[in-house]
Amino acid sequence: MSGEYDLVIIGGGISGASLLYTVSKFTDVERIALLEKEDEIAAINSHHTNNSQTLHFGDIETNYTLEKADEVKEGAEMLAGYLENVDPDREMHSKRSKMVLAVGDDEVESLERRYHDEGFSELFPKLEAIGREEIAELEPKVVEGRDPRAEMLALQTPDGYVVDYGETTKSFIRDGEKVDGVDVYTGTTVTGITEGYDGFTIETDSGPFDADVTVVAAGSHSLQVAKQMGYGENKSLLPVAGSFFLADDFLNGKVYTLQMKKLPFAAVHGDADVHDDSVTRFGPTAKLVPTLERGEISTVKDFFDVFGLNVDSFLSYGNILADRILLPYVLRNLVYDIPEVGKRAFLPHVQKVVPSAELSDIERAKGYGGVRPQIVDTEAKSLDMGEAKITKENIIFNITPSPGASTCLKNAYRDTQQLMEFFDGEYEFDAAAFREETIDNFPREADADAGSGSDSEGEQDAEETQDSEDSDDLGPDPIEPQP
Ligand SMILES: Cc1cc2nc3c(=O)[nH]c(=O)nc-3n(C[C@H](O)[C@H](O)[C@H](O)COP(=O)(O)OP(=O)(O)OC[C@H]3O[C@@H](n4cnc5c(N)ncnc54)[C@H](O)[C@@H]3O)c2cc1C
Repeated sequence: MSGEYDLVIIGGGISGASLLYTVSKFTDVERIALLEKEDEIAAINSHHTNNSQTLHFGDIETNYTLEKADEVKEGAEMLAGYLENVDPDREMHSKRSKMVLAVGDDEVESLERRYHDEGFSELFPKLEAIGREEIAELEPKVVEGRDPRAEMLALQTPDGYVVDYGETTKSFIRDGEKVDGVDVYTGTTVTGITEGYDGFTIETDSGPFDADVTVVAAGSHSLQVAKQMGYGENKSLLPVAGSFFLADDFLNGKVYTLQMKKLPFAAVHGDADVHDDSVTRFGPTAKLVPTLERGEISTVKDFFDVFGLNVDSFLSYGNILADRILLPYVLRNLVYDIPEVGKRAFLPHVQKVVPSAELSDIERAKGYGGVRPQIVDTEAKSLDMGEAKITKENIIFNITPSPGASTCLKNAYRDTQQLMEFFDGEYEFDAAAFREETIDNFPREADADAGSGSDSEGEQDAEETQDSEDSDDLGPDPIEPQP
């Protein structure tokens, strides 16, 4: 297996697949290949058991600034619009109530300020501030057994999209494969990329592929490939594994707790599984691990490739982990995966959402969870909160911790614009057609069903760096205002 292509995309998770969809359907690029090392598409972080299944709009993520929320919102609307268009029977997603919960005077005051004074009620017109009684109507277990004197406030929205990102990835691939000139190779591991006079040779365990232009969308491994090519030297990764605990039927929708501001990992939340609303998931935890993929010991070596084993990397790790908030948090999280002890230690997080939960109600979800590649800036010796992009001549590397799945289409849109520049006018991108199949299908008005906590089928239903080395700014808002 090998071939010659205009564009080769490395990685068959939601980032690579959404780019394949965007370029194959909305441009006239002729020969495109996607290479995935696993036998299955979306086997790593995009698999539905390995992430939190949340379509992040920025409305209930209290660690996002208004600016970040505005940025993420558009990406979420694109994906929600795609799902509304292709998945009317809700096989890949559900739509349920979603809220962020504040309990006690301090939390309530902080959430009220966010809603009324910091612009969130204007940015998210469907977001409503609700009190104890309305919370109890939507999520009885959140109120049951709670101290009646404790003040409660929630910001609630019907835009609670719960997404099977794995199935969505497969849907993008199916759409792409329908187009002539598109090839998808699974079970094909990229071992190196060399740049030649007229493009790239991508070495794989199934033979070489030649490409004029390449996009590496291989999760944490994108940085490894970049470093092999001599790029991304001012970056390292802090891999943070996230696990989940399962309980029976506690919640109808998503209930987030208030975020600790300095933490790059989403606050623990509870939500009903995308395909089975009788299962409530709590998590994710945040445990530092020296691997790039969950439970894959073979990726320890890959971790050391991206770590860099140099003074700057060690100093960066030291600086980050010396933080007064982060260090105790990281240490506590080491405990949660230990049998029995971990469950006991995690229970207070569950009780923050469901006060009546008992130890016997929760079980650690075996085989669930993934590894978030948090980006470390080894020059600033700090943790960057968000995705990273390295753009070089005719090649892009995407490293995609949360909310990478939510913003996949926005990222694909931007990359497609960049690709058109790489191809120097040879091909065109029909952005209007892209909008028609994605963001134009996002419902702007609140629909009555979802507000009540269930969708029509009866199913109930951060990080902040867009970084680039050559072209730092991803440019202005990519979607033109619609008439
Ligand atoms: C615990 C947890 C919770 C999360 N929750 C959310 C959430 O609720 N909402 C959200 O938006 N995001 C969430 N995320 C983040 C989200 O899962 C990722 O941003 C998203 O899945 C990234 O997709 P990707 O395609 O970039 O990476 P991946 O899905 O990891 O795909 C990368 C692919 O590249 C392949 N690959 C790697 N190396 C090679 C190679 N050498 N050759 C060929 N192929 C290769 C891999 O096999 C893999 O299939 C969460 C992540 C975790 C870990």
